[in-house]
Amino acid sequence: MKKPAATIGKKLFLSHFLAVLLVSGSIGTYFYHSAYSSLKRNLQGRLENSAALISRTIDAKEIEILRAPEDAQLPVYSRYLSKMRDLRGTNPDIAYLYVMRRDGDRVFFVIDTDTSEQQACPGQPYLDIVAALMKGFEAPSVDDQIVHDPWGAFMSGYAPIVNGKGRFLVGMDMRADEVEKKFRALKISGAVSLVCSLLLAYLFSRVLSRHFIAGIRLLIERCQAIADGRLGEELTFRSDDELAQLVAAFNRMSAHLAQSRQETRRAEIALTEANEALEIRVRERTEELAVVNEQLKGEIAERRKIQQALIEAARTDPLTGLLNRRAIQEHLAYQVVAYQRNREPFTVLLADIDQFKAINDRFGHHAGDEALRNLTRLIQGQIRQQDLVARWGGEEFLILLPDTDLQGGKRLACKLRQQVAESEGLLPEQPSLRLTISIGVSQFQESATLDKCIQAADDALYRAKSQGRDLVVTAEEG
Ligand code: GH3
Ligand code: MG
Ligand code: MG
Repeated sequence: MKKPAATIGKKLFLSHFLAVLLVSGSIGTYFYHSAYSSLKRNLQGRLENSAALISRTIDAKEIEILRAPEDAQLPVYSRYLSKMRDLRGTNPDIAYLYVMRRDGDRVFFVIDTDTSEQQACPGQPYLDIVAALMKGFEAPSVDDQIVHDPWGAFMSGYAPIVNGKGRFLVGMDMRADEVEKKFRALKISGAVSLVCSLLLAYLFSRVLSRHFIAGIRLLIERCQAIADGRLGEELTFRSDDELAQLVAAFNRMSAHLAQSRQETRRAEIALTEANEALEIRVRERTEELAVVNEQLKGEIAERRKIQQALIEAARTDPLTGLLNRRAIQEHLAYQVVAYQRNREPFTVLLADIDQFKAINDRFGHHAGDEALRNLTRLIQGQIRQQDLVARWGGEEFLILLPDTDLQGGKRLACKLRQQVAESEGLLPEQPSLRLTISIGVSQFQESATLDKCIQAADDALYRAKSQGRDLVVTAEEG
């Protein structure tokens, strides 16, 4: 798993570190500032008090005469210089001690205890005048900041001299490096305490974030184990907080998942077994059904054949194999419809074997049947493909001639009659004996019906019989 850039550990560490740093820093800064102010006040107080004490040892009336450099020769100058130098030696805080006189806004040295060549002589003007100096002529005062002048950098205390009437003061300088040394010591202790608080903040934040991170890492491990399917592992987190409760909840959840996975596996196995059993049953049943299906297909085919045979039988004459009366009537009806649609003429022949009863009587019924079959073949051999022959009655045939008028019909009828009359061997075992047929011819008339057309052919046939047989008679002929 990719490690996130901003981990919770880092965030916790940073937030606690910053919080502790802010608090300890604020407190440290507060204490540092108050210590700094207190030290500064203490230094200023010491300067102010020292200046005030020394000011009482000098009388302004005595030193008022010291106004010019040559006044340094006066005994009073030497006395006060030596006295002030002694005082300076007793206090290590004092760098310089001096007396000054004010004349309006200008300030002049009176006595300067400096032992170097830079010592100011009486009447020498002092130019770096600050507010605290001017105030010192009236009341004890002290510099607020370090002041720089030709003698160096100092913090000074001032106090008016007895009988000075606001015109004389004694000044006392403490060297800036002394002041700063004291401040530096304070700064170092402040910095040390800051580093200590930084260290403490670091340690405290680290311990705190590690505690949280340990719990969170355990939870991540637990989640990954669950995600990878390792449900049996159990984690312990030695703590008494919400993280420990969360780890315990994960352990319980993992146990439940493990249990439900076992149940799911058992159910899957049972389902697989049931599926396999079902597949076997389905295969067996499918095979059985395939066999039954094949049997049924055979039966259906057989039945179709029988049905077809029955249909054929219903439309066919069994003796001659010709269409029977009912079948030819369907064709005749269709022909009438075709006529009505296209005015297509058609003609009907009714042919009847002459004196057939006598043949039966003489040669037997079986011979008569054979004669009927032979005559059928003869007629079929003489007609066109679209012409139809049917057995109309016992020894009577109806021949339907589509697209044929009466004359055409008569021509075919005559040819048939002649062929029959000339044919030998129509009767079995009686080759010399010949048969004759009589034929009535009728063309379908627009004004008439099919029955009338057939009746007209029948009437013509009747006339052919009456006129001596072996004849062709049309419906037109009387
Ligand atoms: P005609 O010239 O007037 O037609 O005389 P005919 O004898 O042919 O006519 P008739 O109506 O008197 O007799 C018809 C005969 O046809 C009677 C019957 O024996 C014979 N016949 C009808 N159907 C069959 C058949 O299927 N087989 C046989 N062998 N003879 C049949
Ligand atoms: Mg007949
Ligand atoms: Mg007959």
